Amino acid sequence: MTEYTHINYETVDDGRIARIILNRPRARNAQHRGLLVELGDAFTAAEADDTVRVVILSGAGPIFSSGHDMGSPESLAERTPGPDLHPTFEINGGTRQGAEGRMLGEWHYFFQNTLRWRNLRKITIAQVQGTVYAAGLMLMWACDLIVAADNAAFADVVGTRLGMCGVEYFAHPWEFGPRKTKELMLTGDSIDAVEAHALGMVSKVFPLDDLDARTLEFARRIAALPTMTALLIKESVNQTVDNMGFHNALQSCFTLHQLNHAHWAEVHENHYPVGLPEDGLIDWRSAPPVAPSVVDQVRATAPVV
Ligand code: ZN
Repeated sequence: MTEYTHINYETVDDGRIARIILNRPRARNAQHRGLLVELGDAFTAAEADDTVRVVILSGAGPIFSSGHDMGSPESLAERTPGPDLHPTFEINGGTRQGAEGRMLGEWHYFFQNTLRWRNLRKITIAQVQGTVYAAGLMLMWACDLIVAADNAAFADVVGTRLGMCGVEYFAHPWEFGPRKTKELMLTGDSIDAVEAHALGMVSKVFPLDDLDARTLEFARRIAALPTMTALLIKESVNQTVDNMGFHNALQSCFTLHQLNHAHWAEVHENHYPVGLPEDGLIDWRSAPPVAPSVVDQVRATAPVV
């Protein structure tokens, strides 16, 4: 059994349902390299295990995942030469310079890993609570189904806070719809669990206190289906959207994302690859709470907590 540091892996129902639990609650389950590599290992283990039928991905603490780790001490240490250097910073382009190094790192650890989880040979369910922003979205979107606590809110704030055109896995138009994506990304506003349910992005909305139990109940219904049937249902939908352009659109939007990084790296003297407050953006470290998108107001009055 693999030992994990940043996640928990467990199975229930005699191994038929696997649970992967992001376990950095003090960092709001922010995704640093160590967590992403362990998550990949856990998905691979669940996929390899013929007893597992359904995988539930959840996060410990008040928030499913706050997105990419933008600077916790652990995330700085894992990329700095020394005893805590994560070995993956010396492979897969980690030793390359400039846009090449950045592109390869993001391709391996943000983009292709997410796409691979989306194509996992098991049915996957994301169980989310609290604010799910930016890279929290792409982790959730990689799953086949999403169930949310009634306190969940969804936003991609990288446009307004980092001057970026979205996260590396640009599934936004397929999940929010094209026009809603433009609104949410240009304003940085959020939608709540009920609106996400109305969009079809979220399958179920449960009270926060019942989230674990109700998600397991839901997973059991799906685990009861013959595995061949479940997989071919998944694959029929995935191949349909791939033929509608999903796969190719993801590739081209990843390239646009790299262009966006290259722009900021070029205009900043210190080559910082995302926008800064001096570029006219909101300072993400002191930003006000994300506001909900409200139908009859240009600017919402009540922030999401
Ligand atoms: Zn990026």
